[in-house]
Amino acid sequence: MNIPFVDLKSQYQPIREQIKTEIEEVLDNTEFILGSKVHKFEEDFAAYCGSQYAIGVNSGTAALHLALAANGVGPGDQVITAANTFIATVEAISHTGAVPALVDINPESYNMDVEQLEQKITAKTKAIIPVHLYGQPADMDSIIEIAQKHNLAVIEDCCQAHGSTYKGKKVPISSTGCFSFYPGKNLGAYGEAGAVVTDDEQIARKVRMLRDHGQEKKYYHKYIGYNYRMSGFQGAVLNVKLKYLNSWISGRRNAARLYDEQLKDVVEIPYESEFAEHVYHLYVIGVANREAMINHLSSSGISTGIHYPIPIHLQEAYSFLGKPVGTYPVSEKMADEILSLPIYPEITEEQIQYVCERIIEFQPK
Ligand SMILES: *Cc1c(COP(=O)(O)O)cnc(C)c1O
Repeated sequence: MNIPFVDLKSQYQPIREQIKTEIEEVLDNTEFILGSKVHKFEEDFAAYCGSQYAIGVNSGTAALHLALAANGVGPGDQVITAANTFIATVEAISHTGAVPALVDINPESYNMDVEQLEQKITAKTKAIIPVHLYGQPADMDSIIEIAQKHNLAVIEDCCQAHGSTYKGKKVPISSTGCFSFYPGKNLGAYGEAGAVVTDDEQIARKVRMLRDHGQEKKYYHKYIGYNYRMSGFQGAVLNVKLKYLNSWISGRRNAARLYDEQLKDVVEIPYESEFAEHVYHLYVIGVANREAMINHLSSSGISTGIHYPIPIHLQEAYSFLGKPVGTYPVSEKMADEILSLPIYPEITEEQIQYVCERIIEFQPK
């Protein structure tokens, strides 16, 4: 059996006619940038998240950059985030001219360790970016409480967590969150796309201007902005796909339960906090002998991933932070042991069974 790590083709088949119709409308109307499809998606996605505004941009990285910029983050500032995240979270901080400060992660949830958050705050700290890693919300009440005490902005990196809930409310939990619609994400476009979702009217207005060269009225530029607009084609694709997001989340959660049942006594399985509903963008297990396990699975036709093999402070690009090996021990240990198994809404019980059997034969209970 051949089991890919992600399978975008099986998701496309049942919706291909709808996608083609929507794409053709973009062509017929020549609404290639922003336009009515993007506008409709912005309204529907804000409503889906239970927020007031969504502003469509051209990537999750751009969404994070603009959310920071709209909050006034810039040179001389510091922004705190987790040490184990995708590089884009910290790149966005760097794009504003601010410097990232990292917090180690909690070994169970893989999210920011809130116990260590407050001690990282300095006079330069301007904002906190909790990352809802793998699809599970961080401990938002604690983070928001600390942020309010120190008068800091909170910008959630929701790029892996579309539709996940914290105490019953969909992310973002604070006023602002950033989403990616990279094709492999739980809600994926057919190209690059992203969005800032917010309840704050001032932030919404500023992000909307910044994504479009700092203008509200054509050729009247209030800010030095960016060209970060969402493509009309991506808005069209996302309008079709948003309708299926809840059923796709159920598919992922069912797949996770099947993995859990078979693997719970064999490897470290993902932990779901009592306050969270995990949407399993990634199903990440912990194994001590990872290289050998990867080779065993790969020789059985099973593709896996590592998210992420090198924590931010040990990346060459961030060596200037001067944080040597040993600075964030939990992130470093996890980086050596985590392994992402194939998961997508369409994965079958038979496929999951096959993956679990191959894991168990390699590492008997
Ligand atoms: C995907 C991702 C991003 C960046 O999104 P792009 O659309 O690829 O720019 C940022 N943060 C996290 C945690 C992500 O997974």
